[in-house]
Amino acid sequence: MYDFVVVGVGPAGARFARRAAETGYDVLALEKGTIGTPLACSGHVSTDIWNYVPEAAKPELFQNRIYGANFHTGGPHSDPHLFYKTDEISNVIDRVGLDRTLADCARNAGADVREGHTVTDIDERADRVVLTVSVAGESGTQTVEARMVAGCDGPISRVRNSVGLPEPAETLHGVLAFTDEPDDGDHVDVHLTAPRFFAWRIPRGAAGVEYGLAAPPGTEVTELFEQLTDSYGVETDTFCSGAIPIGPPETVTTDRVFLIGDAAAQTKPFTGGGILYSMTAADCAARHIQPDRPDSLDIYESAWRQALSSEIRLGHLIRRAYSLPEPVQRAGLTALSGEIGVHMDKPSSFFSKAHLKRLFS
Ligand SMILES: Cc1cc2nc3c(=O)[nH]c(=O)nc-3n(C[C@H](O)[C@H](O)[C@H](O)COP(=O)(O)OP(=O)(O)OC[C@H]3O[C@@H](n4cnc5c(N)ncnc54)[C@H](O)[C@@H]3O)c2cc1C
Repeated sequence: MYDFVVVGVGPAGARFARRAAETGYDVLALEKGTIGTPLACSGHVSTDIWNYVPEAAKPELFQNRIYGANFHTGGPHSDPHLFYKTDEISNVIDRVGLDRTLADCARNAGADVREGHTVTDIDERADRVVLTVSVAGESGTQTVEARMVAGCDGPISRVRNSVGLPEPAETLHGVLAFTDEPDDGDHVDVHLTAPRFFAWRIPRGAAGVEYGLAAPPGTEVTELFEQLTDSYGVETDTFCSGAIPIGPPETVTTDRVFLIGDAAAQTKPFTGGGILYSMTAADCAARHIQPDRPDSLDIYESAWRQALSSEIRLGHLIRRAYSLPEPVQRAGLTALSGEIGVHMDKPSSFFSKAHLKRLFS
């Protein structure tokens, strides 16, 4: 019997598997496909990302440095409102490469990471969890047992569903695609043209340019995406699509099963970004959860909420501005744009006394 079986090897699963294996636990991590694929992410992250990967991986993963964002209430020809910092705010990275690097870190720490293994059923019992696993290229299924299971299987989580944990309050539909002309531009463009969210353009250095948007389900996302690329006069390829859960849910734990990352809706409500929040929560889980102590799951619940819930709450507040009437948005952007002193993953830095004083002075 394993101490932990981790379902899904994205950033949440790989990080938890690594940390739990480093602590000395027996860890099996199962990924249904090939790690990192299919891509459904911009890989636009704060520079904190470099605390989670080996120094040697940075040159391979790094694509571009971002110092600011041009906000528009309309398309590319509407007035830009630049928010910027003199230090870099964020980096654009190779997301597929990131997942592979994080999985290698887990393997090097001693976790048994297997691709082509889909968890199809989870039976939580008093003293263990029994998982049914289907292996690519093999007929029939395998059974695996664990003291505890980490559900790191993304926004449409089978683990969450199987054990009856609550769904995220909201799930957005995100799409993105690329053009291949190199662009070393140092800012992203944000268009407040999608209902309750936004569309974007991200320069990815030699890797080209990304166009994307997210919006609530029911919105004609593909149509809005075509309007975006038409307004830029570009033809994109490699269209990607994915779900963005917005939380937080009331609970992410049962007696022997816990969720991390998108499965637990641990994302930023105002950007949909979840890479760093999922790894922050994975570290909380690895620090506090003991596989033979179901009561340690309560400590994980408190720890990740302490680390992230005020940021998520303030992130919801920022997101409300996306739904304001356009003239109000324009006035607000005009008043607030300029140099900012915020951390991309910490809305609390936007609402800090020092920053508000600077904005309104
Ligand atoms: C369009 C879009 C753009 C985004 N851009 C950004 C961004 O720029 N920055 C940012 O920080 N975040 C971004 N995100 C969010 C980010 O992708 C997620 O928050 C992040 O991937 C969460 O990591 P995770 O490990 O929880 O889940 P995932 O990365 O989704 O990993 C889950 C893994 O579980 C596997 N899996 C699923 N079911 C099973 C099963 N039954 N058995 C075995 N394996 C299974 C999947 O194959 C997958 O590999 C974006 C999301 C979208 C949709």
